[in-house]
Amino acid sequence: MVTCSTINLPRHAVGTQHSLKVWRFGEPGSSPKVYIQACIHADELPASLTAAKLLPKLTSADEANRISGEIILVPVANPIGLNNVSLRNHNGRHHLPTGENYNRGFHDVSEEVLKAIDGKMANGPEADTSLVKAEVARALATATPSNEAQALRLELMRMACDADIVLDLHTDSEAQMHLYLDEDHWPQASDLAGLLDASVVMFARASGGGPFEETIAWPYVKAREVYGADAVELPLTVVVELRGEYDASHEFSDLDADAIYRFLCHRGAIRENAGLVPEFTGVAAPFSATDTLTARAAGIVVYTADIGQAVKQGDILAEIIDPLSDDDMVVDRITAAADGIFFARSNQRLAWPGETVGKVQGIEVLAHRTGKLLYD
Ligand SMILES: [Zn+2]
Repeated sequence: MVTCSTINLPRHAVGTQHSLKVWRFGEPGSSPKVYIQACIHADELPASLTAAKLLPKLTSADEANRISGEIILVPVANPIGLNNVSLRNHNGRHHLPTGENYNRGFHDVSEEVLKAIDGKMANGPEADTSLVKAEVARALATATPSNEAQALRLELMRMACDADIVLDLHTDSEAQMHLYLDEDHWPQASDLAGLLDASVVMFARASGGGPFEETIAWPYVKAREVYGADAVELPLTVVVELRGEYDASHEFSDLDADAIYRFLCHRGAIRENAGLVPEFTGVAAPFSATDTLTARAAGIVVYTADIGQAVKQGDILAEIIDPLSDDDMVVDRITAAADGIFFARSNQRLAWPGETVGKVQGIEVLAHRTGKLLYD
């Protein structure tokens, strides 16, 4: 049965209140449980558009009694960030009162869960996974948020923490379709990558900073380290980067909602034929093989390569132009560190030293890509 409910967040200011609108399909507590949210970075609007296109499809499936498990959909996961408009510019990536990235600092309960399950495991993978799920849910239920943004993060986690499949819909700046997921789900998750026609799949775990999809998976990752990968099932948690933030079109959102719907059919969450699942033809490699291109000088970025272009090590992908320079106006040439696909770049043309202006996905791990891999 389709239900729609509202979760009120604590007031940040007197006289205003933000809330989450949540749709639930199928039978609560049944499996597989699927959780889908869009736009935790509130300025990545194609994600919410795709979720909005998915909503009537799921409603129809539910009304036809075709939902096998439970599906939760949050089309606007960050109502706070939708308000972050300043001087006609929308910055939905950061919580303005604290400067925090909305997709960082999710609540890690892994240590608490490991203590709670100690001495209670070895009852078979189904029972052990259920126990971990229950302890994760219990730990999150008792956590106390410190502000409105933390309350938002906690509410999202509480809904997603015991799901079997979690899709976190985002966009990059200007980009081709790409995914982040845990390597333990590869190549099984190539069905999702193929259906979405993704160009790149990055294997990410412990990237740093506590993003949503990694923090959801973390207690299960830690339990598998202690009890073995066969003892506890790892939820499939995926960041789906639906191209670039200006790609809010009916054409793309219809395609992407259809691909996600068919993925849910293919995974048995909806009793319906998924049709032929296309083969994934992109690049799948570790996140540490993703070269983030960084400007070393201030100026105007002029790209000399297109999104989706196959590049060779040393190819010039962008120039930084200083219009006040006395001699050579090109003050920096940004090159590929390795062969790969130039799959993402910035949609702003102002550069400054240290700013990321693009990404190339290669195959081999890059020596300089260590430590915290996500930037804020
Ligand atoms: Zn994002």
